[in-house]
Amino acid sequence: MTAFWTEADYDDHELVQLVRDPKSGLTAIFALHSTHLGPGAGGTRFWHYAEPGDAMRDALRLSRGMSYKNAMAGLPMGGGKAVILADKNRNKTPEMLAAFADAVESLGGRYVTAEDVGISEADMAAVAQRTQYVSGLPVQGLDAAGGDPGPFTALGIFLGIKAAVKHKLGKDSVAGVHVAIQGTGSVGGGVARLLAREGARLTLSDIDAERAAKLAAELGAETAASDAIMSVACDVFSPNALGAILDDEGIARLDCQVVAGGANNQLKRAEHGPLLAKRGILYAPDYVINAGGIISVTLEYLCRVEKTPCDINEVRKRIALIPGRLEQIWQESDTSGSSPDQVADRMAQKLIGR
Ligand code: NAD
Repeated sequence: MTAFWTEADYDDHELVQLVRDPKSGLTAIFALHSTHLGPGAGGTRFWHYAEPGDAMRDALRLSRGMSYKNAMAGLPMGGGKAVILADKNRNKTPEMLAAFADAVESLGGRYVTAEDVGISEADMAAVAQRTQYVSGLPVQGLDAAGGDPGPFTALGIFLGIKAAVKHKLGKDSVAGVHVAIQGTGSVGGGVARLLAREGARLTLSDIDAERAAKLAAELGAETAASDAIMSVACDVFSPNALGAILDDEGIARLDCQVVAGGANNQLKRAEHGPLLAKRGILYAPDYVINAGGIISVTLEYLCRVEKTPCDINEVRKRIALIPGRLEQIWQESDTSGSSPDQVADRMAQKLIGR
């Protein structure tokens, strides 16, 4: 039997806990990477894994990612993640969610959960019936933090793209700047609308071609096939769909000056950050530029539990700090010769006391 704590992904997690509840059929892994800055915060993934080891690896990687994301967003939260191991048919029952909620509660607030892949808003509302340690619950009214994180994530990415355009192309506006957007869902669609409003030239792509075409018609944009978007000649490539797209082949195809988008874990492996830099392409580290949503859901939680300010202006104020953080990373990258992802990782590690 291989000890998982000897694997690189373990990265000195503070706590890894397996919870099984035979009555409801729940099997869940809780991974708390760091609580240095506050409770480990990160969503719950409900997924069928071919191998149980894949679930452990996912939990560990995602939890560390949340440590870095929360730290770089200036939030008083650490990094954690929960993974519920679904069966092949992805059966999810109220009893299973109740057992999961009780497990969250038993951690006494060291872990704060939220929605992630496979978990709906209704699921989280059910979990919140049995534990207060849930963030990002739906909100009443338009002027409160929380609710759908997509528009907040999109706002941070839009501001990040503007900062990248300023840093790399020396332009104060995105008017006339050509941005190729991969994925026109909640995040990519929001980014496209904000860019269009400022006069950017857009090429949109989605595996759901109709979705991209509809948005393109609304915004007066062009479209590209989903297997062609990464090689479109443009100023900025904005990935807002899948992770791990920046691999040897993907990077070789790029014909842009900047990569800045919201997809999580864009770099396939650690060497792909330096490879982008070597090609002269400016990279906006994903967990820094896509933090708008986590800022909103965290402020909703802190408001409910700790009574801190949580109006939408506070969320916007914090999202407005994302471009400055990126600029700091790029400047340090320019002077140190390390790639932006390496600089960001070092900054995040320092913030969490490592
Ligand atoms: P979404 O499901 O609303 O949209 C994703 C879109 O990408 C869909 O329209 C889908 O058809 C399209 N897509 C999938 N594969 C594609 C491909 N190969 N080429 C082109 N398009 C493809 O999801 P979302 O909430 O917009 O999230 C997009 C990305 O941003 C994900 O990687 C997500 O993890 C990340 N992210 C989202 C948030 C948020 O607040 N929603 C926050 C941080 C990071």
